[in-house]
Amino acid sequence: MLLLFFLAPLLFVGLLFAWLIPLGYTFKSIVNLIVVPTEFFKIFTNKTMRRNHALEHATVNVIEEQYGPTNLSGIATDDGFLIRGSANPSLIYNAAVIGLTRIQRGEKDLALHKRCGTSIAITNLFTSIVFILFLLITGRANIWTVFLAIALGSLIGPTLGVVTQKYITTRTDLSDVEIVGYVPGFGQIKVLTRDKASRDREPVIYIE
Ligand SMILES: [Zn+2]
Repeated sequence: MLLLFFLAPLLFVGLLFAWLIPLGYTFKSIVNLIVVPTEFFKIFTNKTMRRNHALEHATVNVIEEQYGPTNLSGIATDDGFLIRGSANPSLIYNAAVIGLTRIQRGEKDLALHKRCGTSIAITNLFTSIVFILFLLITGRANIWTVFLAIALGSLIGPTLGVVTQKYITTRTDLSDVEIVGYVPGFGQIKVLTRDKASRDREPVIYIE
């Protein structure tokens, strides 16, 4: 009975490593193979979203150049982008304007950011592909192939992230874009953008 008491957790851990983790990882990888490319395709074919994503990165980069790493995060939308975190709305707005001008003048790298969700997603996709390839070649999934796939993913991930941001999820031709205002909210600010040519949105400048 006592032996069973000690053996049960060991058995559970053994089962977890030998069976549950590889099985769960196989499932997760198959989902990634479908979900991640679909998401990338959606962003890639949305010019507005890509340009706003570039501007979102540029804004955070301009702020971080001055103040060092921040806890700011962002989301691109169809009409602009949201920046979340504790920063003064007018500081964010000014950084967005500076970011736009600098990209327009040729500083394309400003559109790339290390903490971008794109980098995490492409790393997950790459890791999943490696894992599934192992599975197809060897015919088995075990904890070591999971580790190996994750290790390779974390090695190649950062480089893949930059390439994916550059060619798929951002766009640096911002000659036709203008920032028309911002809307401060609780713990976030929305910066509004539009096509220069279009009259789809009137300028909205919020002054506190
Ligand atoms: Zn991003």
